[in-house]
Amino acid sequence: MIPPVANRFVAGETPSEALDHAQTLNKRDVSAILNLLGEHYHDPKPATEDTDTYLELVDNIAASGAAACISVKPSQIGLDVGETVFENNLAEIAERGDKKGVFVWVDMEDHTTTDATLDAYESLVRDHGGGMGLCLQANLRRTREDLERLADAPGKVRIVKGAYDEPSDVAYTSKEKVDEVYLELIEYMFEAFDDGVAIGSHDPMVIDAAREYHREYGTPYEIQMLMGVRTDRQYELASDDIEVYQYVPYGSKWLSYFYRRVRERKENLLFAARAVIGR
Ligand code: FAD
Repeated sequence: MIPPVANRFVAGETPSEALDHAQTLNKRDVSAILNLLGEHYHDPKPATEDTDTYLELVDNIAASGAAACISVKPSQIGLDVGETVFENNLAEIAERGDKKGVFVWVDMEDHTTTDATLDAYESLVRDHGGGMGLCLQANLRRTREDLERLADAPGKVRIVKGAYDEPSDVAYTSKEKVDEVYLELIEYMFEAFDDGVAIGSHDPMVIDAAREYHREYGTPYEIQMLMGVRTDRQYELASDDIEVYQYVPYGSKWLSYFYRRVRERKENLLFAARAVIGR
């Protein structure tokens, strides 16, 4: 069982706990993106097991009627085993999502995985005519070109700053530069992605800019934030008629994810320390 200190960031260990959380969010007009925790499998067995769990999850989301979709990590469904394993597993999940009307997001991992992830995603999304989305990272120098490549494809792109430490030959490494490029890419998406823009960020400056671009270009958009981060703001935005999604991790591998959240911000560390000492 997940200790109370971690359940701010992780919905539980089981799919039913994740779905319960999704339904709680739905009451506040926030939709859920469910993510089964797990990554970097070098053996096909866990990659197949997690693929099967996602297939069941898609069925359960459809049966529950919750406003929820899923997001999968490439290395969780076989990319570290081989590109074909990844492509086949992703194709199976995409097909099930398509059949059940459940949207399928693909997370983006470090830059060595970008080509394989983008290629697999693009061929599937063109086959499935939407119903899928891919995350791209503003810190990578290549991302403007990748966005241009996807601008006329069906499906959505979630644009984020980028969570991986990358070398300077492939990525912008200063926070100021990443912030600047992020805004440029978001504006480009408002111009070029008529079907909508998805922004994965907690940054108030970015959210204000998105509202401005929406006023200017009229393109629909959604804001995505992580479970446990700026939750009140998520509810406020939703009550302001902005489409808001909360990314909801769950599963037995919650410990390393929880540590990552706690380490990345002083406030989270204080929150965890207070919870542990009971104050
Ligand atoms: P930061 O640059 O971290 O922060 C900017 C400002 O936002 C802060 O100054 C503060 O005002 C506010 N803020 C940020 N965090 C908090 C907080 N905890 N509490 C209060 N205020 C805060 N990265 C990938 O590489 N691949 C992915 O597939 C991916 N998917 C993602 C999906 C979602 C839904 C989200 C939200 C992020 C995802 N990321 C992914 C992570 C992303 O790349 C960034 O590392 C992460 O979102 C931090 O950047 P930020 O834009 O939130 O703002």
